[in-house]
Amino acid sequence: MAKLNKKDKSQGKGPNVNEHGVILVPPPKSVPNKEHMQRLNYLFQLSTFHTMANDQDQNRSLSRMYIRNLDLIQKKTKSALTPSFKRQICKSCHRVLIPTKTMTQQIINESKQKTARNDVLVLSCECGVRKRFPVGLNPGYQPHVERVGPIYMSK
Ligand SMILES: [Zn+2]
Repeated sequence: MAKLNKKDKSQGKGPNVNEHGVILVPPPKSVPNKEHMQRLNYLFQLSTFHTMANDQDQNRSLSRMYIRNLDLIQKKTKSALTPSFKRQICKSCHRVLIPTKTMTQQIINESKQKTARNDVLVLSCECGVRKRFPVGLNPGYQPHVERVGPIYMSK
């Protein structure tokens, strides 16, 4: 009985650390700035819908206005967008990047050896701005927010 009590005390105090020395953090109970996030998400969905549904508007002025609005709100409220969210928006013309609709995507290899390691994914927006991602360097790469597993705390 006395041994059990000692174990309970050691687990209760201090940070919760597993056998690999990783500090385990409980998931957040609520979303901070929920209203801002809902508004940003709604504007993005609205813009995507207008890009897909409205083919008469060649300049996509309405959907671009929504993304411009989203960009301003994000800056005003200092909300952080995920990398996958930011990759779907052109920073220059505020278009939602949808393959075959507002952008073209191709894999380019400019190296002499033509090894798969030097493959670069190029997303070209209608306005001419290109986003380049070196997909060949690390094929299994995931942004930090999409990685599963415990959170590593830095000292
Ligand atoms: Zn663009």
